[in-house]
Amino acid sequence: MAVQPRRSSSTRKNKRRTHKKLTIKGMVECQDCGEMKLSHRVCRNCGSYKGETVVEKN
Ligand SMILES: [Zn+2]
Repeated sequence: MAVQPRRSSSTRKNKRRTHKKLTIKGMVECQDCGEMKLSHRVCRNCGSYKGETVVEKN
């Protein structure tokens, strides 16, 4: 196992993690319409889940 020569400063640590929260966790692209939706949830835009229309759009 590699040993780091010195501890990383909080500034360096924070800079490294700037890209971590760019996308909300659990968000995936809908297979049907391509909108961003919560995974394991019915799509709010087109009402489909796993390629099937579950909720009809009004
Ligand atoms: Zn959709």
